[in-house]
Amino acid sequence: ALVDKLRELNLVEKIIAVGHRVVHGGEHYSKPTLINDDVKNTIESLAKLAPLHNPANLIGINACQLAFPELSQMAVFDTAFHQSMPEKAYLYGIPLELYSKYGIRRYGFHGTSHYFVANQVAQLIKKPIEQCNLISAHLGNGCSVTVIKNGKSVDTSLGMTPLEGVMMGTRSGDIDAGIIFHLVEQLGYTVEQVDALLNKKSGLLGVSQLSNDCRTLETAMLDESHAQSAQAKLALTVFCYRIAKSIASFSASLTELDGLIFTGGIGENSSWVRQQILKQLSLLNFHVCDEANQATRFGACGNIATKSSRPCWVITTNEEWVIAQQSAQLLS
Ligand code: AMP
Repeated sequence: ALVDKLRELNLVEKIIAVGHRVVHGGEHYSKPTLINDDVKNTIESLAKLAPLHNPANLIGINACQLAFPELSQMAVFDTAFHQSMPEKAYLYGIPLELYSKYGIRRYGFHGTSHYFVANQVAQLIKKPIEQCNLISAHLGNGCSVTVIKNGKSVDTSLGMTPLEGVMMGTRSGDIDAGIIFHLVEQLGYTVEQVDALLNKKSGLLGVSQLSNDCRTLETAMLDESHAQSAQAKLALTVFCYRIAKSIASFSASLTELDGLIFTGGIGENSSWVRQQILKQLSLLNFHVCDEANQATRFGACGNIATKSSRPCWVITTNEEWVIAQQSAQLLS
């Protein structure tokens, strides 16, 4: 359908390369990469770490190679930005051989988005990105918090898979791993059922029992006559608390902090969520300016903190732009 549309618009001749978002690059890729058969094989072998994403990414790559055989195809990995994490951040507290033999470690995701918004803030504050220390919260249907030291990712909340970390739209984020044994051994769940429960039926959806959509929950919360008003508020409250806790915990990675960034569908648009999170971060000297917070939505960017507060920017993310830019750079 996309190729037909491009033909209809006479745009095919203008395309110089195809950039693909590939979710898992494991430890193999820390930079955008020209796709050849070896790279495709590696992406396929990493499907065991990202079974929902990497096979779909390969379908896109194969389709574009068929449609545009003469064009270079580039892969931009969602894990690449986090390859700068130190061992202390990416290792789990489990036997080391699970890492050395099987690659069980934290990789992190949403790297392209965190990279983009951090660079946008560096430009806004006119500071070289290599000197910027930031905490970035990408809050969409998937959510992650990343700590950026001197322009590089040094820790992030998503792990080996996109299930770890803060609570998300339908994913639980961190839970006591013992709950999984309890579900299987005491409550008779199968492994597949636990997988579906934690990935697809938890998070905002699971707690509210209403929706994973932040807009639906905010509307229900504000309408006291709504049957699930209280549960919608509870889900959003747990969501915001867990994100605030994650942001605060990442201060352990920094000695200086230029500010906080909100991005993603929720981070860019929900002034309620941002206010709730910032209210719980006053110890880190974050204080929201209500007026700026209300005004900075729907594509508006800027600082939503008071003058005496540490800055807190709302930045509209643009992963597609990064993929296009990095692909063009690689081509040249
Ligand atoms: P994303 O995955 O980045 O596209 O973000 C999707 C999430 O953004 C969903 O939970 C939406 O409900 C949320 N979102 C989009 N627009 C708004 C809005 N105006 N207010 C609150 N949440 C929003």
